[in-house]
Amino acid sequence: MGERKLWNAAIEEMPPGQLRGLQLERLRAQVAYNYAGSLHYREKMDAAGIAPADIRTLEDYAHVPLMDKDEHRRVQERSLAEFGSPYALLACAPADRIVRISATSGTTGMPTLYTVTAHDVGVVNEMHARKYWRAGIRPGHTMLQAVSLSMFTGGLPLSDGIQHLGACVVPVGIEGGTRRVLEFAQLTRPHALIATPSFGLYLIDECRKAGGRSARDLGFRWFFCVGEPGGGNPTIRRQLADGFGARVFDHTGGGHAFHGISCDEPPDEYKGMHFVSPDHCLLEIVDPHKRQPIEMTDGAVGEMVFSFIDWEGGPLMRYALGDLLQVWTAPCPCGMPGVRFKIVGRTDDMLIVKGANVYPEAIRKLLLEFAPRVTGHFRIRLRRPGPAVDPPLRLRVETSEADPSALESELIARFRAELRIAPAIEWLAPETLPREAHKTKYIEIEGS
Ligand SMILES: [Zn+2]
Repeated sequence: MGERKLWNAAIEEMPPGQLRGLQLERLRAQVAYNYAGSLHYREKMDAAGIAPADIRTLEDYAHVPLMDKDEHRRVQERSLAEFGSPYALLACAPADRIVRISATSGTTGMPTLYTVTAHDVGVVNEMHARKYWRAGIRPGHTMLQAVSLSMFTGGLPLSDGIQHLGACVVPVGIEGGTRRVLEFAQLTRPHALIATPSFGLYLIDECRKAGGRSARDLGFRWFFCVGEPGGGNPTIRRQLADGFGARVFDHTGGGHAFHGISCDEPPDEYKGMHFVSPDHCLLEIVDPHKRQPIEMTDGAVGEMVFSFIDWEGGPLMRYALGDLLQVWTAPCPCGMPGVRFKIVGRTDDMLIVKGANVYPEAIRKLLLEFAPRVTGHFRIRLRRPGPAVDPPLRLRVETSEADPSALESELIARFRAELRIAPAIEWLAPETLPREAHKTKYIEIEGS
């Protein structure tokens, strides 16, 4: 295999116009297939008054109603009750073609299932190969997969994809504990580690505690972040890069068709992830409240909606998971092709202040520009749950400055310019706000 930049240049570097053509062709075939094969989709489209033949353009497709996780669960429940199978209503391929089921890692409610045929396994493998190839992984490299393996879409499907590229996977998992991960790191001498950022930081700490050794001695040249937003956080990326002496990549995509990987870039920078699966996944963004499509222009923000195209098993159609996505369409300085995206928050957290859409992650990012004058810890204080907020938006912000008045004017000017809001700021001393180990809830409701 000669050295090449991309796993599948013919697709990955396809000119945008040609790619749109391929997407439309596959989308139209997919919608007809979904309608013919899935009772749920047929009922849903009939109720909306749309027939597969009505979809002649990508704009026509926007009339197909969105689907969320609750609907997915309801379909699974009904499917179990009526057909004795969790996927009979959604999976368009007959049961004897289904070869694998994986599930989302959601902690509440019934797990939502990804149902795949041998063809779909091939699609998933291809996407993993595209991602790792871009990062420089080649046959001869060994990857230690230290993530949850049980049912997780980043478990077995990912192991399969690494083998498809021709690299060697050591699927140690995390179910056996940290000691087992370290044991196999020392025994198999992998070049790359795949883990959540928080597990990576924990390993660095554990190595230090175990007799002052360094995680650098493990010899990883790559750290692939998965499963958590920390892979896009410059501070965490820097800690991982320094702790392991490795290049840090963020990536997403398990046993389904939505896949992306970040650029090869210094840890303090993060330009988002390149979308690598446009030939098998149609990506849209919509207004989280009006649920109308937003044009994918450079820097646009909206709720992520995806549709699997050229998918046989359980093809998800206009699936909205509640993630807020920012997209960039301009060419990336790293030279890799593909639209870039960052997950910038959850639609549940989005607020509307005088018509401006404001999300906590954007506030956090803006505040961090002022570090170390602010600690970066803050809360949004609301009288009642959003999204609508009576102006001004009230923020509680930690500062190390004795007199923050100059800081306050600078901050408010930045808020006006960047987010089109002028918040009212209550200043707090450092370490006033509670630190939460996992996901910080930025919004406080008065009296609760
Ligand atoms: Zn890039």
